[in-house]
Amino acid sequence: MDLSGMNKEQLQAVKTTEGPLLVMAGAGSGKTRVLTHRVAYLLDEKQVPSYNILAITFTNKAAREMQERVDKLINEDARKMWISTFHSMCVRILRRDIAYLGYDTSFSILDPLDQQSVVKDILKKRNLDTKQHNPRSILSVISSYKNQLIKPDQAIAEAAGFLDELYSEIYKDYQEILYRNSALDFDDLIMLTIELFEKEEAVLSYYQTRFQYIHVDEYQDTNHAQYRLVKMLAEKYRNICVVGDSDQSIYKFRGADIQNILNFERDYPEATIIKLEENYRSTKMILDAANAVIDNNTERKPKNLRSNKGEGAKIEVNVSQSEREEGHAIVAKVKALSEDYKYGDMAILYRANAQSRAIEDAFVKSSIPYKMVGGTKFYSRMEIKDLMSYLKVIQNPFDDISFERIINTPKRGIGTKTVEKLQAHAEQLNSSIYDAIRDADFLGIPQKTVVKLMSLLDVLDNLKEKSKYMSMTDLVDEVLADTGYLDMLQSDKTLEARSRLENLEEFKTVTKEFDQERPIADDNLFEFLSEMALVSDQDGVDDSSGVTMMTMHASKGLEFKVIFIVGLEEGIFPSKRVMFDDKELEEERRLMYVALTRAMDYLMLSRAESRMLYGRLENNMMSRFLSEIPEELLEKPANQSIFSNNNSSPSFKTGPKKKARIIQTNNDVDFSIGDKVSHKVFGDGIVSQIKGEGDNTELDIVFKTAGPKRLLANYAPLEKR
Ligand code: ATP
Ligand code: MG
Repeated sequence: MDLSGMNKEQLQAVKTTEGPLLVMAGAGSGKTRVLTHRVAYLLDEKQVPSYNILAITFTNKAAREMQERVDKLINEDARKMWISTFHSMCVRILRRDIAYLGYDTSFSILDPLDQQSVVKDILKKRNLDTKQHNPRSILSVISSYKNQLIKPDQAIAEAAGFLDELYSEIYKDYQEILYRNSALDFDDLIMLTIELFEKEEAVLSYYQTRFQYIHVDEYQDTNHAQYRLVKMLAEKYRNICVVGDSDQSIYKFRGADIQNILNFERDYPEATIIKLEENYRSTKMILDAANAVIDNNTERKPKNLRSNKGEGAKIEVNVSQSEREEGHAIVAKVKALSEDYKYGDMAILYRANAQSRAIEDAFVKSSIPYKMVGGTKFYSRMEIKDLMSYLKVIQNPFDDISFERIINTPKRGIGTKTVEKLQAHAEQLNSSIYDAIRDADFLGIPQKTVVKLMSLLDVLDNLKEKSKYMSMTDLVDEVLADTGYLDMLQSDKTLEARSRLENLEEFKTVTKEFDQERPIADDNLFEFLSEMALVSDQDGVDDSSGVTMMTMHASKGLEFKVIFIVGLEEGIFPSKRVMFDDKELEEERRLMYVALTRAMDYLMLSRAESRMLYGRLENNMMSRFLSEIPEELLEKPANQSIFSNNNSSPSFKTGPKKKARIIQTNNDVDFSIGDKVSHKVFGDGIVSQIKGEGDNTELDIVFKTAGPKRLLANYAPLEKR
């Protein structure tokens, strides 16, 4: 195997295969590359069976890339090796043995919208108002319990104060409902795997024996549950290699705990620790800027990182009057750069998804191809959700959450009264709607409706059989035909129905891809649904042409020749929420470090003097992150100082002088798709899409006169009508 392309420290990391190993190093120093080569080295030189190797990556895309790179490095098919994300690894483990925990092996995985409807149901049952208790906030409380491996009973026992008590009770209800539905949310995948390992010694022992060599990328962003999982798996052989960079920890809001990487030496006192200090990705200019910025964080160990790529061009700064002008400035630059670079080599990074709209507008006008990353948007469209619900029910008949969605879609005369009766009976049986239907005759449901219910069951049972020998594409066709869904859309002559049909067609490109990769097998449907559920932030970045647009969070681990960072304004980035909180501010600064270090050759930093965002016009000061970059690294715009703003160069060292503006928030208002709303400036509209959570929740709203807009739920001047 050829290892000539590695430096001394990298080589040491590749060859230290026995015992715990920590590679702590800055961005672009080859950590991921070391992991890939190490896996190949184990297979090729050490003749370790691929079966005994586990590699955990942060995203599916990274997993695929690693698989490809390993395939290329050695000439053997290493398919038996587990290269996967935490979540998909856990799906595989649970799929085999979750029955020990009482769940059905054909369990479903809930998406965020499903989770919300479960919480809303609980609130309704408890006569609580969703305006007072935001389902998304409750879900984030539940998520943090799970990330810390706190079970409902423990949460209840330890709750202090009214809200704590209430939310821990809701957590318990939520978990019981999921159990009854044989449904898991994302955090369950990890928590239940650990529970399974704790409960069934033999299962844990099987995986401990199997995974003799364990690798984890982006270790700084593991949460407590993930940390526990890795520790359990590695206990037998202790051949565990983790790589990470504490300066790139950016997922605290999802429970990531930077201590995991800092405590590695404590957990494994015999660990070898290797530092990599050469950066192969970015020019010296770019790296100097990144190092200067991160140097402002106080809670960090300083480290050396030098560029191996030469000086490079200065970093360009763009200052625009407005967000629209910023969009056009980026487009102009993209056009100019396209002489030397492909569109696929360029990416635009922003803090919040909502910022993409202005940039997108400019791209659409100029017809430069672009792609957006991280949108689960397509999958939350009504018709796609419906189809997925059918597939989920076929796979897991106990999944009431999906069943309720399709029981009368298309309309087949099964009314809410009937559904309520079935629900009540299901609860009595401690079972599912699917089972309750079998007793429909005795529940006082009109005979006509009973017949309809029976024929629905018939259709679903038949489809279940078909799912065992059909390709996914064929199965989707059958589902749409047999359930009457296709008829419903085809007989509807509206434009909307036509676009729904197109979306369903588009869905089949996904199933076709899946079919190409897999021979028909009877667990196809399960595999397909798991893959769909685990679509991650970075899926959608591919090598095809087009400029990539994504949030800085989604860009982690990736690299592009050309990077634009937009919206470098106080209040946007760093965002308002964190401007006055030192800990949070340091997390934002790490995010800036991640963003800067994605660039290989060319970097542009951009800001607008005024910006319309979230329904408000703002004049923001230049981001402190921009002022933390030494001026000699910056190429300032012609005839303009980057400080040309009404406010002169701000100094933040002594703390912000400006008082926090009081922002109107809609914290108490909970929006749902389809809600009619009214906006101070844009007038009346309808919510068409909801993205993100907590303070970052964004609403896509189609306004009657102003057209489609994307707004931050908590900040836009919005009222429900
Ligand atoms: P991040 O912290 O952003 O995840 P990383 O440390 O994982 O970065 P890699 O993505 O592995 O870094 O490597 C960055 C770039 O440098 C890649 O293009 C990689 O191929 C290249 N690279 C790494 N090591 C070497 C080397 N020894 N010789 C040539 N190129 C290298
Ligand atoms: Mg990496």
